[in-house]
Amino acid sequence: MFKCPKCGEFSITSSRRYGRCPYCGSLTALTSARVIASFDRAREASEYVRRLKSKKVDLDRLGFSGKP
Ligand SMILES: [Zn+2]
Repeated sequence: MFKCPKCGEFSITSSRRYGRCPYCGSLTALTSARVIASFDRAREASEYVRRLKSKKVDLDRLGFSGKP
């Protein structure tokens, strides 16, 4: 799994060297800095993506809007 440097979305790829982002279509070299985690099963990876995204939503909801 890697994070696209262009659009910031998390994507899953079966390749170990390159991944194509399904959101913006850019081809990303999978350096260790970009790879978030690797999984043996695609299902584990998609679970992980879902958790990451829900966490992000929670952070947005908690808000850094400037007012408590
Ligand atoms: Zn992208």
